Amino acid sequence: MKTVTMIVPCFNEAEVIPLFYQEVSKVLGRCKNYSFKLLFVDDGSSDATLEILRAMAERTSSVKYISFSRNFGKEAAMLAGMRYADTEYVGIIDADLQHSPELIPHMLNALDIEGYDVAAARRTDRAGESKLRSFLSSRFYSVVNKTSDININDNSFDYRIMKRKVVDAILSLPEHVRFSKGIFSWVGFNIKWFEHGNIERAAGETKWSLKALLKYAFDGILGFTTAPLRLPFWAGLFTLIVSVMLFVYGIVRLVVENAFDPTYSMLLSAILFVGGLTFVFIGILGEYIARSYVEIKARPVFIVSETNMDKDAQDAPGFDEAQQEQE
Ligand code: UDP
Ligand code: MG
Repeated sequence: MKTVTMIVPCFNEAEVIPLFYQEVSKVLGRCKNYSFKLLFVDDGSSDATLEILRAMAERTSSVKYISFSRNFGKEAAMLAGMRYADTEYVGIIDADLQHSPELIPHMLNALDIEGYDVAAARRTDRAGESKLRSFLSSRFYSVVNKTSDININDNSFDYRIMKRKVVDAILSLPEHVRFSKGIFSWVGFNIKWFEHGNIERAAGETKWSLKALLKYAFDGILGFTTAPLRLPFWAGLFTLIVSVMLFVYGIVRLVVENAFDPTYSMLLSAILFVGGLTFVFIGILGEYIARSYVEIKARPVFIVSETNMDKDAQDAPGFDEAQQEQE
């Protein structure tokens, strides 16, 4: 009998959790060869999410929950779930039923029978999503994929089930600003993809504002590629070449035609151009420095205020401590 934990990040999902539980239980009940835990991570909800989870956990021993002291974001919720999960297989699924539970038996089959390390879902279409969001998202993935050594599937969900070794690999990455789609791809392993249509939320509203999505995109780009840091070199080279050419042109005009005439507007625009470029690059540098600062501070990614899981896991050694122990 294989053991499986399904992690469910929840932020103000009181409306949908009972329905989610009902639907998932139906599917899990059919998977006779596995013993499941549902690990709900309450990401600082302000609605009745935590009360519902407590009540469910009272009734059913396979329902586990971790509750954060405030909202730390879905990335933190997934990380917490992976740190606490102590089973052979670990999965992640959204609470809003946009990830069809029907796939779970097929995913387990891919791991168990077909020998894959990861079974993950990707979308076949972006129906029901705003044009702006689809556009920004496809631009974003193409920037990350072209400038980094990872390849993120444009259409992948966070919906997946992984073998223990994959989860351990993910947990061994020490970064605090976490971008899981990048991390999932970075650790590698053998993935089986399942096609999955876009489904409307069963209830409640999306927790992503445009601002949150942009922050997520920046975390992805800055976390997985240092290419922007190389931009100043190429821009500098370009301005250098142009300035040398202009200089030579000016000298030639002066000698041949005895004229000195770069107009003031041209001069001004050249100065503004170089000035503007410099500020942009200082800004990019600043972003990386700010992130180094956050990483050096090494604050915990989340703080747990309540759980019915084994307390030890919370104190499980992080990457640094594990390394120190080895030394
Ligand atoms: N979520 C979370 N913390 C957050 C935002 C979202 O745990 O700060 C959870 C949310 O409860 C849901 C999943 O992450 O289970 C996906 O969120 P949502 O459905 O709002 O995103 P979308 O499906 O629109 O991308
Ligand atoms: Mg959703």
